[in-house]
Amino acid sequence: TPLIEARGLARYYGSHCAVQGISLELRPGEVLGLLGPNGAGKSTTLSMISGNLAPSAGHIRINGIDLLDDPRGAKRHLGYLPEHPPLYRDLTVDEFLHYAARLHSIPRKAVNEAVDLAKSRTGLEDAGRALIGVLSKGFQQRVGIAQAIVHQPAVIILDEPTVGLDPLQIREIRDLIRELCHEHGVILSTHILAEVQATCHRVMIINRGHTVFTDTLQHLADRR
Ligand code: ADP
Ligand code: ADP
Repeated sequence: TPLIEARGLARYYGSHCAVQGISLELRPGEVLGLLGPNGAGKSTTLSMISGNLAPSAGHIRINGIDLLDDPRGAKRHLGYLPEHPPLYRDLTVDEFLHYAARLHSIPRKAVNEAVDLAKSRTGLEDAGRALIGVLSKGFQQRVGIAQAIVHQPAVIILDEPTVGLDPLQIREIRDLIRELCHEHGVILSTHILAEVQATCHRVMIINRGHTVFTDTLQHLADRR
């Protein structure tokens, strides 16, 4: 079964149609990029797939579980990093990740181990006691990714994961995404073609709320 299967997604804001007719699949081991300009509907699509925004139409299955019928069951398999996550500047990395682990219903006894694993997988082993507010943007983004994987979801959803970072930080986050995809399917959004070329196996280009096309990176390279 696909990790994500979305069919015919639409979202209206009042009478304004933000996205329509969006269908996609994410397979294990894969990084799928949603590429499009600002306002194309990327965040709207990812909010719906992550269970944070109700679609006006369409169906979403996460690991075979219907997200709209069984949101709690489906969300266990999902990790999500929004474009503008709330930043808990006054918490330490450890405090925040413990909090995130509890939100994901990890049993109290298993939290320490889950947090340590999430830190080691995101290069935060030595940052546990640091206040989030004093970290660099690149490290803050690692914390955002660590909270998205702390419950070992099948899928992680990353909305514009490298926006606002400097070139070195961008490279580090892209490398991290390429490592993580061996254990979690990844869907990310970006308005930058180079981001897709550096991290993705397949790309879906969207514009004005519609799919323009979906293709593999290999085919995309051959077209050019
Ligand atoms: P992207 O993430 O690709 O920049 P969005 O999904 O944020 O695009 O936005 C898609 C469209 O939906 C845009 O036209 C945007 O103005 C509109 N939109 C997004 N969020 C809202 C909202 N909360 N209320 C009204 N319109 C919205
Ligand atoms: P290759 O045969 O060279 O691995 P693929 O056809 O598997 O290429 O991958 C297509 C695109 O996906 C490549 O342009 C590459 O940037 C990207 N890619 C390849 N492997 C990975 C990976 N493990 N994680 C993320 N992206 C990858």
